[in-house]
Amino acid sequence: MDLDRQKEINMSEEMIPVHPDDLMKFDCNSKNECFNECCRDLNQALTPYDVLRLKNNLGILSQTFLKKYTSLHYGPESGLPVVEFKPNPQTGHACPFVTSKGCSVYEDRPGSCRMYPLARAIARSRENGEIAEYFALIEEPHCKGFGFETKQTIREWLKGQDVGKHNEQNDKLMELISLKNTILPGKLEGAQADQFYLALYDLDEFRHQIAQNDLLNGISAPQELIEEIKKDDELLLDFGIQWAKYMLFGIQMKFGE
Ligand code: SF4
Ligand code: SF4
Repeated sequence: MDLDRQKEINMSEEMIPVHPDDLMKFDCNSKNECFNECCRDLNQALTPYDVLRLKNNLGILSQTFLKKYTSLHYGPESGLPVVEFKPNPQTGHACPFVTSKGCSVYEDRPGSCRMYPLARAIARSRENGEIAEYFALIEEPHCKGFGFETKQTIREWLKGQDVGKHNEQNDKLMELISLKNTILPGKLEGAQADQFYLALYDLDEFRHQIAQNDLLNGISAPQELIEEIKKDDELLLDFGIQWAKYMLFGIQMKFGE
């Protein structure tokens, strides 16, 4: 089971399993005394889809976004790239996008911001690949939104957060990481880690290198698809995930599914 939550969870925090049909006993609003507290003292990893949405919200290239707003390190055992908001001690490690009025990139905020204070875990069926979801509420001491009665179920609350697309894309990342752990359980070599980072996080550079270099050598991608990924970032990310599977594990890319 993979826990799809990027904000660090301390063992002291209370984790309460919940069902999607349970009522959401939580209310976050700007009148809460803790307003914006959850956007400070960050230690927040970003998924490839988070980066895609944020760089497009800001109207900048992925490389510019990654350099300006993120830091990169590699998992000590997996060698996988981990992209996080760049720590800034001068702001108390606040998110670069928090303002006194709230989140300045709200429409394109990361999936973990949308889920908060819920944690989501998934289990994928070995028989048919179907995904089962599990949720838990995490009570952190600084968050004062708990205990309010709402008429919304957790399912309805999640719909309001518009988190479906993030979860769908992030599940593809989790599948890729799970494949990596099965097929290449050791540490990724430098070039492999670079390919992973390029195809998933640095999408505009990936697109550039597809056009300029021989990245698709040996891959018979339809010309129509090559034209589409020149202008569609989400298609490009799907393509990048498949390309990474091909480059790292030799799994043939599938087109038109
Ligand atoms: S992206 Fe927005 S919601 Fe997420 S931590 Fe930053 S300011 Fe808060
Ligand atoms: S700390 Fe909790 S209640 Fe306060 S703004 Fe953040 S999510 Fe909302």
